[in-house]
Amino acid sequence: MLKYISNRGGVAPVDFETAILDGFAADGGLYVPQVLPSVSAEQLQQWKDLTYLELAFEILSLFIDRSIVSADELKELLTSAYAPFEKQGIIPLQQLKSRKDTYIMELFHGPTISFKDIGLAFLVNLVNFFLQRKGQHLSLIVATTGDTGPATAYFSAGKSNIDAWVLYPKEMITPEQERQMTSLQHANIHPFAVSNCPDGGDDLDAVISKLYGNQDFKEKLQLSSVNSINWGRVMMQTVHYFYAYLQVTDQVGEKINLSVPSGGFGNLCAGALAREMGLPIKNLLAANNKNACLQRIFSTGTFSKEALINTESSAIDILIPFNFWRYLYFKVNGDSQKIKDWMDEFKASGTLQFDPQVFACYSQGFLASSVTDEQTLALINEIYSEEGYLLDPHAAVGLGASDILTDQLGDEKLVVLATAHPAKFPETIRRALNSAELPPEATHHSIESAKKLSQKVHLCEYQVLESALIHAMQSNWELTKGL
Ligand SMILES: *Cc1c(COP(=O)(O)O)cnc(C)c1O
Repeated sequence: MLKYISNRGGVAPVDFETAILDGFAADGGLYVPQVLPSVSAEQLQQWKDLTYLELAFEILSLFIDRSIVSADELKELLTSAYAPFEKQGIIPLQQLKSRKDTYIMELFHGPTISFKDIGLAFLVNLVNFFLQRKGQHLSLIVATTGDTGPATAYFSAGKSNIDAWVLYPKEMITPEQERQMTSLQHANIHPFAVSNCPDGGDDLDAVISKLYGNQDFKEKLQLSSVNSINWGRVMMQTVHYFYAYLQVTDQVGEKINLSVPSGGFGNLCAGALAREMGLPIKNLLAANNKNACLQRIFSTGTFSKEALINTESSAIDILIPFNFWRYLYFKVNGDSQKIKDWMDEFKASGTLQFDPQVFACYSQGFLASSVTDEQTLALINEIYSEEGYLLDPHAAVGLGASDILTDQLGDEKLVVLATAHPAKFPETIRRALNSAELPPEATHHSIESAKKLSQKVHLCEYQVLESALIHAMQSNWELTKGL
């Protein structure tokens, strides 16, 4: 049976179900499969004509033991997870007319119109399935830079075995994203608007880590998380790399490049693992905005935390790409002692310099770049004027990074991951198009209808967030348990 271990090496191997329900490993590490499955060229060939859901079934079957989730259960979990998606095919790819061999992979056709729906639709469904089977209840807690929160809230809403606590940095996400969380009326959804967090979502993550460290509280409230710390997110996200590859290539074996607007490195970690499994990817592009943490990691070997800059691509205003540690674990052949030492050194000093050998190893097949707001706006404008296709600011960062790196990319086909619908960022679109009027591509019916609903939210100052959360979560727990 495939077991899961912590990349810090401090917990005994657990089964898939435990890894998913825990979220974090107890030693503060990230769960990884003990062995990464591999996929052969023959298998890829056989998968060439599969739909997204059929392909997801094949790939997840490599990670999930049948004794834990049967084939029928897995099919049913996938089908029900993706039922609320709006487009045939779930993840359509559009070829740009004004660029050579460039495809936009639209990952935003789920109910909260960002790529977070891809991972969370399945993961929350799976968590709920496990909880129902065990007759247990979990308190999920996530921090968001604008998209994880809405998706977690949407998929948790009304699920009686889950309470979802969703923290967001007030004023650092768009009003459209905020309403996606606050307009849900379900009693098990608890949005928290947190004022005065200088480092945005990273500050909220720090408070969540503290709650995790509070062992009594964690156990009593059955605390867990579905942010991309959770292996289930990364696992699910490997599927769209395989899918993109099979959609755009003429022949299995051909190599492609992919550009990924990145913050926490969850999406890119999935891409890197897909490549380790055997998917013929030439380059993965880490596309950063001015918060250029990955650009530093992949160009100079420096892992460091700098001050937060608010940008037009706010969902990737993230300082610490914590999923990098998961990827690095595989690049150092599972040497968890090294991972532990590096993580601890970074935590203690806020900066870390990898030695040249380690740097050479992990950066192979990666390119990185940092795109300014001016470039982002200009590119949205350019692509919309030239071909009437509207990029959201994150997809524009992805395409912008590939423009900057064009000389190093070669002739392979390029897939840019479009991680959000432009309707989540109307002010940015107005600035990009120099127009007060929004084009129809920048609107979405779900965003419009949320404006008419009443809002429910806890307001909180960052300084008192930890105690406010403990209090609110505790009383909710007692209330729902009828204590
Ligand atoms: C979360 C998010 C990203 C970044 O994904 P990571 O896995 O954190 O790198 C990119 N774009 C959008 C729109 C997002 O919401």
